Amino acid sequence: MTTSIYPDIAHATARVPAWVAIDLGALRRNMARLHVHAGVPLVAMVKADAYGLGMLPIVRALGATFAPDQPASGALWALGIATLDEARQLRAARCTARILCFVPLLPSELAEAHALHVRPALHRASDIVAWAAAGGGPWHLSVDTGMSRAGARWDAMVSIAAPFAEVMAAHPPEGMFTHFHSADIATAAVAEQAQRFVAVRNALATLLPSNLLTHTDNSAALTRHHGLPGALARPGLALYGAGTVAEHALENVVHVRARIVDTRVVLAGESVSYHATWTAAATRRIATVPVGYADGYRFAFSNRGEVLIAGRRCPVVGRVTMDMTMIDVTDVPCEVGDVVTLLGNDGDAQLSLDEIAGHSGLLPYELLVGLKLRLPRLYFGEV
Ligand SMILES: *Cc1c(COP(=O)(O)O)cnc(C)c1O
Repeated sequence: MTTSIYPDIAHATARVPAWVAIDLGALRRNMARLHVHAGVPLVAMVKADAYGLGMLPIVRALGATFAPDQPASGALWALGIATLDEARQLRAARCTARILCFVPLLPSELAEAHALHVRPALHRASDIVAWAAAGGGPWHLSVDTGMSRAGARWDAMVSIAAPFAEVMAAHPPEGMFTHFHSADIATAAVAEQAQRFVAVRNALATLLPSNLLTHTDNSAALTRHHGLPGALARPGLALYGAGTVAEHALENVVHVRARIVDTRVVLAGESVSYHATWTAAATRRIATVPVGYADGYRFAFSNRGEVLIAGRRCPVVGRVTMDMTMIDVTDVPCEVGDVVTLLGNDGDAQLSLDEIAGHSGLLPYELLVGLKLRLPRLYFGEV
C-alpha cells in the first residue's frame, strides 16, 4: 500500500465528507522554532479556542501542564487568553499552566480571576487595589503605546501621578507589556511604540521589580522586526502556521479537506450557483464539495478561491453557498469520494492561509477562527 499524500487521511474514513485536519506535530515544531528565534520563553496565545483550532488539544500539544508535579516545557511560559470563560475551561480540564488574560477584566470579574489563578492585565489604580482586595497575585501592567485599545497611555505613565505611584509601589506588577498595531506591515510604528514602552519602563524603574517580565512581540513583531527582545514573546498566528512564516520555516498546521460529493458537465452558456455569477465559456466539468460558508469556507471565495486536487489547482466557480462549493475540475480527472484540499498541503502543493486569505481580502485570523463553525476537527501528529 502506498503512503497517502494526506498525512491525516488515515483518520478520515470514507464516511467523513469534510474535515479540518490539525497537525499537532507541526504545531510543536513551530513553537520550538519560534522559541529559538525569540530567545525567550513564550506566552502561547490560545484565545478564541486557540484561533478556532480547539483550545484543549492545542494546549496539550504545546506541553502545557495538567498536573502540579509535571514540569512546564522550557519553551512555554504561559497561555494567553481573552476571556474568563477560557480560563474556566482550562482549569476545568485541570490545566495548571500560568494563564495571562489580555482583555481588560471588569472589576466585577476580578474575584473569579483570582480564584482561577489568572494573571490579569491591569492599568487603573482602582483595579490594582481591587485586585489586591480580591486576594491579589501576579498581574501585568498594560501600556497603550499607540494601539488605543486597552491599557494606560504611555504619556500618562511617564509622568505618573503620586497616588498611582503609591499603588504601584504597594502592589508591583509581575510583568509589563504593550501591543504593536502594525507589526505585520512595513512601518516605523513598531520602533516608535517600542521607544514609548522603554520610556515608561525607565520612568517607572524605581516602582517596578528588577526582575519585571516585559513583553511586546506578537507573531509579526517576532518574525519580522524582533521588536523588543523583552523577557517573553506572545505569538499566536505564527504558531498555527500563518503570517510571515516562510523565512522561519514554519509549517502549515491546518488543512481543510472535503470529498467530492457530486460531479456534472455544464455546457457553454450554462451557469453555476446562485445569481448565475459564473457562466461556462465552453463545456466544463464541475465538482461539488460539501463545504460552504456555514463551515467557515467564506462567501468571499466565490469565483476567486482555488483548491487542490491531486496537487493541482482548480478554481472555485460561482458563489460559495451555505453548504456546498463548486469547482471547475475540467483539467483534473476526479470522481465522487476523491479528496479536495481547500487549505493546507496536498503533497508538495500548498495553499497557505495567507494566500487564500489574500484571494479574498480576508484576514488569516478571521479565516482561522471561522473554521470552528461546523467542520469536524481531526487531530494528528500527536506527541
Ligand atoms: C492576540 C494577541 C497576540 C497574538 O497575536 P498574533 O498576531 O496572533 O501573534 C499577542 N498579544 C496580544 C495582546 C494579543 O491580543
